[in-house]
Amino acid sequence: MTYWILKCRSCGKEWKLNVSYPLKKEFTKLYHYCPFCKRNTFHDIIEYVE
Ligand SMILES: [Zn+2]
Repeated sequence: MTYWILKCRSCGKEWKLNVSYPLKKEFTKLYHYCPFCKRNTFHDIIEYVE
């Protein structure tokens, strides 16, 4: 199982995103839906786990 630990820049929460595909590791931020903000926000990628 591959997942990322993302940290929302808007609310500051860290959460796990399960992914079925690898992402280039040079990515350090991601624009994604935040389940806490309930909208798309920028996230820092804290950790990449394979
Ligand atoms: Zn958020």
